[in-house]
Amino acid sequence: MIDYENLRRVNEPFFDAFKRAFAETLDSGWYILGKRVETFENEFAAYCGTRRCVGVASGLDALVLSLKAFDFDPGSEVIVPSNTYIATILAALHCGLIPVPVEPDIRTYNIDPSRIEEKVTGRTAAILVVHLYGKPCDMDPICAIAGRRGLKLVEDCAQAHGALYQGKKAGSFGDFGAFSFYPTKNLGALGDAGAVTTDSPELAERIGKLRNYGSGVKYYNEVVGFNSRLDEVQAAFLSIKLKALDEINGHKRKLARIYLEGLKEDFIKPVVEGSADVYHIFNVRHSARDRLKEHLLGNGIRTEIHYPVPPHRQQALRGLLRDGDYPIADEIHATTLSLPISYFHTEEDVCRVVEVMNGF
Ligand SMILES: *Cc1c(COP(=O)(O)O)cnc(C)c1O
Repeated sequence: MIDYENLRRVNEPFFDAFKRAFAETLDSGWYILGKRVETFENEFAAYCGTRRCVGVASGLDALVLSLKAFDFDPGSEVIVPSNTYIATILAALHCGLIPVPVEPDIRTYNIDPSRIEEKVTGRTAAILVVHLYGKPCDMDPICAIAGRRGLKLVEDCAQAHGALYQGKKAGSFGDFGAFSFYPTKNLGALGDAGAVTTDSPELAERIGKLRNYGSGVKYYNEVVGFNSRLDEVQAAFLSIKLKALDEINGHKRKLARIYLEGLKEDFIKPVVEGSADVYHIFNVRHSARDRLKEHLLGNGIRTEIHYPVPPHRQQALRGLLRDGDYPIADEIHATTLSLPISYFHTEEDVCRVVEVMNGF
């Protein structure tokens, strides 16, 4: 059996280091927002090429606190991709903002920059982009639109740790980069964790207060804050894993190359151009996606669908999005299939998947 994901095997190379880090943290007697969090924040800011990083409790919180930091008027609009994981859109809703979906480029699955401006109104406050599957969005035109229209720009980097666009890391383009360290992400903790990157010390300070009850100085609360703090033990694990992130991404790129070269042309494969993707997910599209998934399972290969239902068709979001049709998001959701591409998969595993795929 070839699993889609196996977190024990992903983390096994780090077990000894994790055990030492856990013992040290336990012994320190300090468990939330301490020197391990600060160390990881500095390391991750340096890795992303931003001046600051603030650790928070999850990827969703990283998005929520980023949007909260601007104090937008309630009812302001936020441009979001129609093709994304629901967290992106929930973040806007939790901040009292109206998500305005924009269709993706069918080649990249990311928000289509040429469709953004037709959705900008007098109430638009921000653009929230998602580097889906680990492929950076086309940031040049997006940054230009944000600059020209005076809009804030937030990047959802939950799937794009270490991805490069024109040599610059995801998370270093917008006012904020919002990261998740959920265990399955390219940089995954052993529980929930997240971070916000920014070049602005003032904005970093705001996030620092928002994550801790709105307080900069203990028991003096300046803003209406949250409890979204990062644990010392998760930060210690993340520092260990960060040192291996380029190796993890390199491994995934090597496996992606096998798929890209080996899969027959019946499958629509990810486009490879300018950007350096990190393949959080390696997807193909096929009109008989569900039959293909069964064919693979019958041959001992587990796959996933990211995602089966687009946000605009989710029950939870009924009536909450700007009305519209999103046929490109529908098409992607109906045809996409995610193939095994984890850190523990071997080249032999992937060659076997290619063989079974090509026999379909
Ligand atoms: C995982 C993910 C999130 C949310 O991260 P959590 O840590 O689970 O809160 C947000 N956006 C995208 C695109 C994701 O893949």
